[in-house]
Amino acid sequence: MKRLRLITGNRLAIVSAMLCIAIFSLALRSFWRFDMVNLETCRSNNAVWTGDGYELASLHGVMWFRHYHADFLPGKLPPENLRNRIRGPFLHVRRTKTIRLDHPSEGPLVAIGAGLIHSASADASGAFTGTQYIVPHWLAATLLAVLPIYALTRLLRLKRRMRRRIANDLCPSCGYDLRASPDRCPECGAVPSGNPILFHVRRLTIVSG
Ligand SMILES: [Zn+2]
Repeated sequence: MKRLRLITGNRLAIVSAMLCIAIFSLALRSFWRFDMVNLETCRSNNAVWTGDGYELASLHGVMWFRHYHADFLPGKLPPENLRNRIRGPFLHVRRTKTIRLDHPSEGPLVAIGAGLIHSASADASGAFTGTQYIVPHWLAATLLAVLPIYALTRLLRLKRRMRRRIANDLCPSCGYDLRASPDRCPECGAVPSGNPILFHVRRLTIVSG
């Protein structure tokens, strides 16, 4: 069980580290390219049309997810290319310069640029609402870095502790004095070997197996 937890934790840390690097790259890119993936759907129910759109975007150091919704007035039609269709997902890439960035207006983290924007408007064809969830790249990257940094420091601490135990003729796993039985630990059954980390994994295998 402990071994499973260790392996799962390490895999999560690796995935988290890769996502962190990806977001860091996206952050750099966001200052010269606006990237957006979006998907739109539109359907009618008793001749009244509604539409939904979803977008993921990256611009000027922030990322967002936005959902927008349109209720067309009875008898009003959405644009023809939207009717009864799922459009997308489309990838839009544009120059950053021409795009305006909206700042979040709701939520406890507005001061650091994270939060929500609710929007609503209406015209002769219907009512439109949208919710945008904004997160700065640096915040996402920092959160994603926590697990890999923790896993790495834990690994280094473990390695140091095992080296110290081996140098003092103690069992690298449980710290038992191995001067009388250097080949196998009488306390936990571990067999000391060259690589302390491999040893630790083997030892956990013994314990959980
Ligand atoms: Zn031991």
